Amino acid sequence: MQNWLPDRIDPRVWLQRGGRLSGAVPVAGMARLGSLLAPGGEVRAELALSQEAERAPLRLDGHLQGHVTMVCQRCLGEVEVPVDVTLALDLVTTEAVARRVPEGREPWLMSGDLLALAELLEDELILAVPTVPRHPAGSCQAPAMAGAAEATVERPHPFSVLARLKDG
Ligand SMILES: [Zn+2]
Repeated sequence: MQNWLPDRIDPRVWLQRGGRLSGAVPVAGMARLGSLLAPGGEVRAELALSQEAERAPLRLDGHLQGHVTMVCQRCLGEVEVPVDVTLALDLVTTEAVARRVPEGREPWLMSGDLLALAELLEDELILAVPTVPRHPAGSCQAPAMAGAAEATVERPHPFSVLARLKDG
């Protein structure tokens, strides 16, 4: 059985239990990312939570690895996009603390006691995958090469059908 990461987690409890967490990222349930995806793909996360000093922000470090399946915007075929993301986040509760996050780390603003882990991971994945996914040049089955001529003959454009109905 898949060991899915939780959508939300209490970081204090997580830290008390050792601060380690690994599992599958629930990619298919991520609405914002899902609009870019074809079914399939698997991303795993190894996460570690730590705290340097008692009042310091909690630090979330980790690694996302795997692949997602996206729709090639040239040929509309499926393209596997590798995912390899390193996380270095400070969990902060105010904008003021967010501005003091050291170089090399990014702030993640928490809006309460629970960490929205799925939302955080979704943000990281959205940044990691291309906005316009495409096969690499040479391996793309572009329609121009796959008999686009036959494909366009058969179907009239829906608007031209409407126009004919109106005229008649
Ligand atoms: Zn393609």
